[in-house]
Amino acid sequence: MQLAIPPLTEDLKRVLIDADTIRSRVDELAAEINRDYKDITEPLVIVGVLKGSVFFLTDLARKLRIPHIIDFIAISSYGKNGDKRGEVRFLMDTRESITDRHVLIVEDILDSGHTLAYLTQNFEARHPLSVKKAVFLDKPARHEVETEIHYKGFDIPDVWVVGYGLDYKEEYRTLPYIAEMIPKN
Ligand code: 5GP
Ligand code: MG
Repeated sequence: MQLAIPPLTEDLKRVLIDADTIRSRVDELAAEINRDYKDITEPLVIVGVLKGSVFFLTDLARKLRIPHIIDFIAISSYGKNGDKRGEVRFLMDTRESITDRHVLIVEDILDSGHTLAYLTQNFEARHPLSVKKAVFLDKPARHEVETEIHYKGFDIPDVWVVGYGLDYKEEYRTLPYIAEMIPKN
């Protein structure tokens, strides 16, 4: 059965990445991860950053053929109005200990890079066996700090995007595609 694709509403400008393109790219990333971790003996701990990464993580994880478990963290980043850039507060930490384990952090989008740079540091301090990062989208034009990304879905221009987990004021997360949006307010 073919499900109807939700139409663009008036504040969505255009579809940037459609559902088929997303699916095939996620398959490619899963294949890379399967290859890179083929020799691990302990399950890979996949840590999703709530809520934006949820759709990417679940699609990706279901294509993995290596031992893995999933876990989540919730964070809040401080405002973008010049105050304390890059400071991140944990609202919920992982349930699993990551010490002596291989960890893959999964994020929806890399913008300034502050969130992932902070998370990398925070996780490394817990002495995992390794920490790698997967991001679904990247806005290279907006980077302020560099942080290594091991698996990346797509580069996008400096526009606000929604769908496939990404929101605007909590709306649009469940769209099956990535759309560019023009906020009215
Ligand atoms: P960074 O610390 O890299 O600046 O922030 C990344 C976070 O900003 C992402 O996890 C996401 O929550 C948010 N973000 C950045 N750009 C966008 C965008 O275009 N759309 C949405 N929905 N969130 C974004
Ligand atoms: Mg996020």
